[in-house]
Amino acid sequence: MTVYNAVIIGGGSSGILSAICLNDKHSVLLEKNDMLCKKILITGGGRCNLTNNGSFDTYMKSFYNNGNFYRTAFSNFFNRDIISLLEKNDCKTKVEENDRVFPVTDKAGSVQETLIKILNRSKTRYKLNCTVKEIKKENDYFIIKYNDSEIIKSKYLILSTGGNAYPKTGSSGEGYRFAKNLGHTLTQQMGGLAPVALYDKWTQKLQGLTIDVKLEIKANKKSVKKDNGSIIFTHNGISGPVILNSSMDIEKHLRKKEDVKINLDLCENYSYEELDTRLQKDFRKHSNQSIKTYLHQYLPKRMSVEFLNFLDIDESTILNQINRKQRVMLRDNLKRLTLTVSHVLEKEAFVTNSGVKRKEIDPNTFESKIVDNLFIVGELVEGCGISGGFNLQQAYSTGVLAAKTIKERISNDSS
Ligand SMILES: Cc1cc2nc3c(=O)[nH]c(=O)nc-3n(C[C@H](O)[C@H](O)[C@H](O)COP(=O)(O)OP(=O)(O)OC[C@H]3O[C@@H](n4cnc5c(N)ncnc54)[C@H](O)[C@@H]3O)c2cc1C
Repeated sequence: MTVYNAVIIGGGSSGILSAICLNDKHSVLLEKNDMLCKKILITGGGRCNLTNNGSFDTYMKSFYNNGNFYRTAFSNFFNRDIISLLEKNDCKTKVEENDRVFPVTDKAGSVQETLIKILNRSKTRYKLNCTVKEIKKENDYFIIKYNDSEIIKSKYLILSTGGNAYPKTGSSGEGYRFAKNLGHTLTQQMGGLAPVALYDKWTQKLQGLTIDVKLEIKANKKSVKKDNGSIIFTHNGISGPVILNSSMDIEKHLRKKEDVKINLDLCENYSYEELDTRLQKDFRKHSNQSIKTYLHQYLPKRMSVEFLNFLDIDESTILNQINRKQRVMLRDNLKRLTLTVSHVLEKEAFVTNSGVKRKEIDPNTFESKIVDNLFIVGELVEGCGISGGFNLQQAYSTGVLAAKTIKERISNDSS
């Protein structure tokens, strides 16, 4: 049976950084897919929002259940480190709105290819198409069974199998089982960054449309959150950074059986009064223009049509035929379009919030406090960051910290 120094299970963002940092010819990474970092390809809408260029303080505030837990990991390997690693290897990056960092190619494949290229130059080996089935610890060694009957042994083990978001990318929750069998406790399944389903069926015709809005979330008529940003209409509801970041709050209120509404301000540049005055003036001035054409200055074309259908106003109505009641309705809905949430689409979550309990992991090394020489990194750890590149950074930083710790121990073991 082959005995390794370290085995890394899962070749996603955290696992590949662990393997690169470990740079050890007696260590191996096992990945069940036929490629590494498959999930990276779908991140950031296919562009990969690879990190966030925000300050350390911003990072501390951008994780649910306390960003402080990652203080050592981020101090050790931060946003500038991943940017510099990629840039040194010809993957140039750019910073966009809200400090989101993307490859200049706008292609997630550039990040994936570059990380694989770097790994290919490191001493750590990797094996594809290897599905780990079982892990046991016997006499200071981990016994790892993969595929049908392959068995290997290692002194150190990194579990970097991800959570269970988007299982088709390989992260289908097996890591939870491995951690549990090794003695760890998992948090209760609790959302993550997920889209929401709406009762407002008319919005389904807007599928794929992205708009920038100011929004307010209300639970039982009480305001619970206000935010600005882009939303995207989906086949059954809405998604986009501001929705993903609010989904756990929404979930909390829905669990209390509260009525959750999302109010969209589609004309944030005007107050109610200003919009009213403007509509009255414009309706007189452009009296022969159709309401559909007129609305284009506030809404994308596709949305104008569905918006008017929803308000039961014929799209061809000319402005001087719009009566007062209709004008008030237009004003009210442009300023506050109310959507009602039916449920959070947990199965479509981008990132899982549940995982191995943090109190069972040492934040200075990401080693298990229950099993010596076991390291738990990436999304498998309880909690998640908000949308914006924070989750990938968490994966790299925890992966690197675990590998650095192991590297030191391997060096001590042999001296
Ligand atoms: C649609 C989508 C878009 C996203 N966009 C962004 C974004 O733009 N920016 C951002 O910061 N975050 C984004 N995320 C989140 C980010 O992708 C994750 O936080 C990150 O990939 C987690 O890294 P990880 O290494 O923990 O897990 P993963 O990247 O999920 O990797 C886990 C790996 O383990 C392998 N594995 C699992 N079980 C086994 C087993 N039994 N044997 C062998 N291998 C196994 C899997 O095949 C997989 O390759 C997005 C997520 C999704 C789903």
